[in-house]
Amino acid sequence: ERSKLKRLLTMRGATLDGETVSLQANIELPGDVAQVREVDADGVGLFRTEFLFMNRDVLPNEDEQFEAYRSVAKAMGGKPVTIRTLDIGSDKALNSGGPRVETNPALGLRAIRYSLSEPQMFLTQLRALLRASAYGKVQILVPMLAHAHEIDATLTALAVAKAQLRTEKVKFDENVLVGGMIEVPAAALSLGVFVKRLDFLSIGTNDLIQYTLAIDRTDEAVAHLYDPLHPAVLRLISQTIQVGTKAGLSVSVCGEMAGDAHFTRLLIGMGLRTFSMHPSQILEVKQEVLRADSAELGSKVAKILRQDEPERISEAVGKL
Ligand code: PEP
Ligand code: MG
Repeated sequence: ERSKLKRLLTMRGATLDGETVSLQANIELPGDVAQVREVDADGVGLFRTEFLFMNRDVLPNEDEQFEAYRSVAKAMGGKPVTIRTLDIGSDKALNSGGPRVETNPALGLRAIRYSLSEPQMFLTQLRALLRASAYGKVQILVPMLAHAHEIDATLTALAVAKAQLRTEKVKFDENVLVGGMIEVPAAALSLGVFVKRLDFLSIGTNDLIQYTLAIDRTDEAVAHLYDPLHPAVLRLISQTIQVGTKAGLSVSVCGEMAGDAHFTRLLIGMGLRTFSMHPSQILEVKQEVLRADSAELGSKVAKILRQDEPERISEAVGKL
């Protein structure tokens, strides 16, 4: 079985009817890139930078961050490297958490909200990301957006970082792409705001499911209610893919759903063409891609999306 998967390594990700599917990898630290190269992923779809900041007392300065981002950009040799700005808070806390106690950390000052509340820290990260963009195809991804003004404030901070680097004559990619995570239902229900301001979208199904179903993704007591196939979840994912793609943006899924081969055919049928997952899952998902007919799946999935009954949905997904 392992050797069969190995043969898949050299094959390009495409469906039977010739649709190219990009299979990218999620990483947490620069060292993970070795495994990404082993499976010949089409890029890094999600670099969770918070892992550079966690479990230490002094946060990484601009140079340390720059080295980390640059090493991944260089190692990927021109393939896209999507680096997410700090997604701290909730299940991923800093040592220097401070005295604030949150009753609902998943609904609190996390991710982009936290970055915008710490402008100096955010500017440092944006400068490091921009500097790394001179060494590969770096793209910047912003977590947990819900409001138009959060995107605007992020783009303003990025413009400040760019202006500083220009003045300092430090090189960076002037056209670096900026994308947003769609992981709050409000974002999936107001996509016009996002497609107008951003270059690409990435659906974070882990949080999108958590927030849509009001299920704490880390709470074992409600884990049985955490359902990726809930009709509300499927509709939000599907709409995001449709609206984003129609507006000319690339749309990926980088949550756990993208790496679960049971969902590959469903997501292709929804129109998804970019998946990002743990590198160990790429070959299994590629196997599903290679035996998929995207047109046929498209019409089958359209019917599933009209279903409300959970039993019907899971049965139909199983039969895809
Ligand atoms: C997600 O929410 O699906 C996601 C990819 O981000 P994280 O798991 O890091 O919150
Ligand atoms: Mg998330």
